[in-house]
Amino acid sequence: MSRQNNPLSDAKNHSVQTKMVHSGTTRSQFGETSEAIYMNSGFTYADSAAAQARFEGKDPGHIYSRFTNPGVDMFQDRMAALEGAQAARATATGMAAVTTALMSQVRAGDHVVASRALFGGCRYVVEDYLPRWGVASTLVDGRDPENFSKAMRPNTKLVFLETPTNPTLELVDIRAVADIAHAHGSVLVVDNVFATPIWQKPLELGADLVVYSATKHIDGQGRALGGVILGSKKLIEGDVHTIIRQTGPSISPFNAWIMLKGLETLDLRVRKMSENAAKIADFLAEHSKVATLFYPHHQSHPQYDLGKQQMNAGSNLVAFEVKGNKQAAFECADGLGIILISNNLGDAKSIISHPATTTHQRFDEATLEELGIKQNLLRLSVGLEDVDDLIGDLAFGLDQV
Ligand SMILES: *Cc1c(COP(=O)(O)O)cnc(C)c1O
Repeated sequence: MSRQNNPLSDAKNHSVQTKMVHSGTTRSQFGETSEAIYMNSGFTYADSAAAQARFEGKDPGHIYSRFTNPGVDMFQDRMAALEGAQAARATATGMAAVTTALMSQVRAGDHVVASRALFGGCRYVVEDYLPRWGVASTLVDGRDPENFSKAMRPNTKLVFLETPTNPTLELVDIRAVADIAHAHGSVLVVDNVFATPIWQKPLELGADLVVYSATKHIDGQGRALGGVILGSKKLIEGDVHTIIRQTGPSISPFNAWIMLKGLETLDLRVRKMSENAAKIADFLAEHSKVATLFYPHHQSHPQYDLGKQQMNAGSNLVAFEVKGNKQAAFECADGLGIILISNNLGDAKSIISHPATTTHQRFDEATLEELGIKQNLLRLSVGLEDVDDLIGDLAFGLDQV
């Protein structure tokens, strides 16, 4: 018997965990174990006719790393295998992925509807840049799908949402909003960073494009920026590929390699972080210094049923309001000995942030109130440390309030 006769030589027969270790890998003539880094901008051709065939699209080889690169392809293919998407394109950052996804689907005269609770940069693009380019936008409270319905116009071409939202972990019903978008002939784009590709599958729930900041859980070790856009071959190889090729938000081959290696441990890391987060949520829910807990898979969450329905776990982000004001939140965060004060998330290291004075400080009081971001709110990204150490750390921090 040879390896070729083994049905498990065929990647189609692999479970997702196996795919995350092997999918997309191509090997050079040296047969390296780990994937090579193709740190080159351009490619050579055997002769002029070969170059012509490449540019005419008759030969599918690489031309220039702004368009395609062998290492970037490996990351894209492995990401598509994880998401269950037909195709993927990587970008330099998560914001490049969001901006590219939106720009690929709209033009001047169109209208976009988005949930108002969006990651800072995403909200900036929807609220400030799209209108500058002649694309009107409406922001709605995403918790009730009816609000999307009411905001739809005849020229609405795209609906954009993120769930759970940053930083208050509100949920948006992806399937309900997908149905509304499609009934109006619009595409639905979902930013799935907080849920991660391990726990939530927007494409299965009706989304047309899914975007990630790979900077978060996919790298997961605070090393590099990156982004990914996933969806059907038609959308990804058409509009999305063309806009990347022509405008250049392309990822560095080195960063794509970091993200590719991140995928090999993503499942393990996200499971462990989420398990830690669920225990921390239980601890915080009972703590006398905590006023409110926000965790999608904790029974106290106002959208607990929806959380159970569309997410297979609560993920690794936990938000909570400390009893008191801004000073109380600062006292808690400043008392921590392991958990770092920073604004990244999805990292192996646990990280806490005070949204009202950092990531959301540009918003006026009325907007903060609308978004439910109070001065006593802290957002915690739970990492891979020992959960008892983290609970001990939080207990000490809360004692300082
Ligand atoms: C971080 C983040 C982004 C932006 O990603 P970058 O890699 O920082 O550009 C977009 N959406 C969400 C939900 C994020 O957490």
